[in-house]
Amino acid sequence: MRYGIFCDIHANLEAMNTVLSFFKSKDIDCYLCIGDIVGYGPNPNECVEIIKQLNPLHIIAGNHDWAACGLKDIMWFNEYAQKAIIWTWHTLKQENQIYLSELPKISSDSDITIVHGSPRDPLDEYILSQSQYEDLLPYLATGITFVGHSHIPFILNNNSLKIIKNSSAFQLNPKEKYIINSGSVGQPRDGNNNASCGIYDSKTREFKLFRIKYDYNLTQEKMRQHRLPPFLIERLAIGK
Ligand code: ZN
Repeated sequence: MRYGIFCDIHANLEAMNTVLSFFKSKDIDCYLCIGDIVGYGPNPNECVEIIKQLNPLHIIAGNHDWAACGLKDIMWFNEYAQKAIIWTWHTLKQENQIYLSELPKISSDSDITIVHGSPRDPLDEYILSQSQYEDLLPYLATGITFVGHSHIPFILNNNSLKIIKNSSAFQLNPKEKYIINSGSVGQPRDGNNNASCGIYDSKTREFKLFRIKYDYNLTQEKMRQHRLPPFLIERLAIGK
C-alpha cells in the first residue's frame, strides 16, 4: 500500500493542488491527512471541499481546524494566528465547519497512527526534540506514527531526531517505532519555501519526503485581498 501523507495545508490551495497532483502521478493507494487543513491561508472552503472528495482518506483534526469551528479557545494562539482563525471562522461555510468539527483527534490501523500533535496530547504537543521520544514511547501503539504541527519535516526514533532537509528516502526498520513529520504543505517553516509531503510504501517500508515548488505569489495575492496579516503573507516566500 502506498500512502500519500500531507498536513498543515493551512488553506493554501495552490500548494495543496500541487501536492495532490504529484500524489496522482505517483499512484497513491490511500491519503493520510494529518490535520490543519485551514487557518492562515485564503481558501479554507476550497481546501476542505477537495479533501472531502479524496478516497480512500484517513484524516484527523489539527488545532487550527478545531479553533476555526469554535471547538477550541483561540487565546493560546499568537495574534496573527488569532486574526486568521477569526477570518476563517467567518469565511467557512457551515457544512465545512461541521465537517471539521466531526474529525477525530487520532486514528490508527494495525501499523500506522495519525495524530496532529502527539499521541499524548493530540492537538497541541509540539514534537521538537529527541528527549520527548522516551516519554512518548508508552503512547506509541503502532510501528509508525505520523504527526504534523511543527511544520518541520523529521524522523524520530529511539536514537535520533533527524530533520529532513530536502527530498530524500529512508528505510524503516520493522523492529523500531518511528514518529514521522512530513512537513507542511501550505506554510513550511524550515527555511525552504517549497511545499512538503511524504509517501510511505508499507510493502518496502520506505518513507520518502518530497519538496515541491508551487506558485506562492498567487496565494500571497489572495491573502492581500482578504487583508490577512502581512507577517503570514511574507513567510510563504521565505519558508519561515
Ligand atoms: Zn499547522
